[in-house]
Amino acid sequence: MNSFPIKEFFYSIQGEGHYYGMAAYFIRFEGCNIQCNWCDTKESWNIKKKDFIPIHKIITNISNYKVKNIIITGGEPMMWNLYPLTKILKKKKYRIHLETSGYYPIKEKYMDWITISPKKSKLPLIENYKKINELKIIISNEKDFIFAEEQATHVKITNCVLFLQPEWSNLVKIIPKIIDYIKKNPKWRISLQIHKMLNIP
Ligand code: SF4
Repeated sequence: MNSFPIKEFFYSIQGEGHYYGMAAYFIRFEGCNIQCNWCDTKESWNIKKKDFIPIHKIITNISNYKVKNIIITGGEPMMWNLYPLTKILKKKKYRIHLETSGYYPIKEKYMDWITISPKKSKLPLIENYKKINELKIIISNEKDFIFAEEQATHVKITNCVLFLQPEWSNLVKIIPKIIDYIKKNPKWRISLQIHKMLNIP
């Protein structure tokens, strides 16, 4: 593909997970058929013809910023064959991070860091778990801890960091339970969406 449907791109701070606080250029792809009910990027689900942007324009936009880290997110970016884009980004020595549900095969060739955030409605492919650096489970209620442990059985803990992230709309209620759980199960770390807390665009 020479162009991709992009919902938005922006230079900001990674707010969650292992690299929280890091300056990064975000590319949010359009398209997602996972449809989590608490999704905070529902506007990215639909693919619009008018939003297809040629690769050369994507690259030019990035070069306006003094940035080394690119975060590819969505939507579900693995719906697309990203090689034509990631190959050029890698040639230009960018560090490429991928955020995905893991539902589609991960073409990891040029990725430097891969995060899977599994969704119960459409589980990740088991083969994808071998490729990831970070497993991030959204915790909305206590049943999600069981789901988190089930998913963690698929990764090698020596190669993969494990995060529990409170579901934003349930933050206040669920945080004490997550803290308590992590104290008892310290292989997990908490991931907070600091960009939302601090209102970082
Ligand atoms: Fe939203 Fe991500 Fe779920 Fe898709 S996979 S519905 S983008 S949270």
